[in-house]
Amino acid sequence: MLEKNIKDQPPIDYQALVDAVLDDASNYRGHGDVAAYLPALAQVNPNKLGIALAAGDGNVYVAGDADEPFSMQSISTIFTLSLTFSHVGGALWNHVGREPAGAPFNALVQLEEEKGKPRNPLINSGAIVVCDQLIGRDTADEAVDEILDFLRERSGDESIDIDQNVVMSESTAGSLNRSLAHFLAAWGNLTNPVEDVLSVWFRQCAIRMSCRQLARAGLYLAFDGMDPITKAEVCLPSRSRRINALMLTSGHYDNSGDFAFRIGLPGKSGSGGGILATIPGIGAVAVWSPGLNAARTSLAGAVALEKLVERTGWSVFV
Ligand code: GLU
Repeated sequence: MLEKNIKDQPPIDYQALVDAVLDDASNYRGHGDVAAYLPALAQVNPNKLGIALAAGDGNVYVAGDADEPFSMQSISTIFTLSLTFSHVGGALWNHVGREPAGAPFNALVQLEEEKGKPRNPLINSGAIVVCDQLIGRDTADEAVDEILDFLRERSGDESIDIDQNVVMSESTAGSLNRSLAHFLAAWGNLTNPVEDVLSVWFRQCAIRMSCRQLARAGLYLAFDGMDPITKAEVCLPSRSRRINALMLTSGHYDNSGDFAFRIGLPGKSGSGGGILATIPGIGAVAVWSPGLNAARTSLAGAVALEKLVERTGWSVFV
């Protein structure tokens, strides 16, 4: 058990907390729609619900389906962004902005209006640019290996891998993402061939992780870039803060403002129904439930995080 540095807050029993939060959100199991636009995701059981809270002392508290791997989808961008930042530093901002999109995650019109510079790295066009920058002078396969190695090391779990079925779905249903990538290329904002960049983006989105693995992997972002258990300096404190800022302002498609309003934690949603959120100085929490709201954030997952904050006061605005 750990305590946030707030006077008069009693110690929290983390296991009882995640059990209670799972219970709170259980009424919302199966609500919303699974991401049917990808055939492989359409088959996932909508009643799944899991939560994992990784604390700074190395303990991970889980409830429900927290050990079942699911498709990370664009939650993966948070980690690719950490890696790309360490390769190219602030030069990344020549290629992508850092404003909320206020538009759907795959909006083509906005990209055209803004001459091929995506609003932020967490929408699809921005994530594609991040992949391009990560490849740099390497090959697409090397970039994917780097992402996988990073996730395995961060979660302490070598079993993390790519779901090839999802890769296939991403590619066959990928016309809009291909359009975004060609638009970026047309505006001179890709340095590698479109199909190479997309092959990284598709494989990155198709990585499967459980809530337990994801919460553990995201822990460094709650501790200023340093893994509190291994003491590895994963990214510079300033970059960790910036990634958290992007998560807070742009982490949930076109409902990022609503997520900040309701939950008040930096987070990133993926269309597989996962959400990763950081609780600065305390830990990282991952939730998963495949039913999505109209803006593609996990419906029961967001309720679970809302209840977590209600029960603890762990909003960053406290
Ligand atoms: N690979 C996904 C797509 O466009 C990303 C979805 C997401 O999680 O935002 O379809």
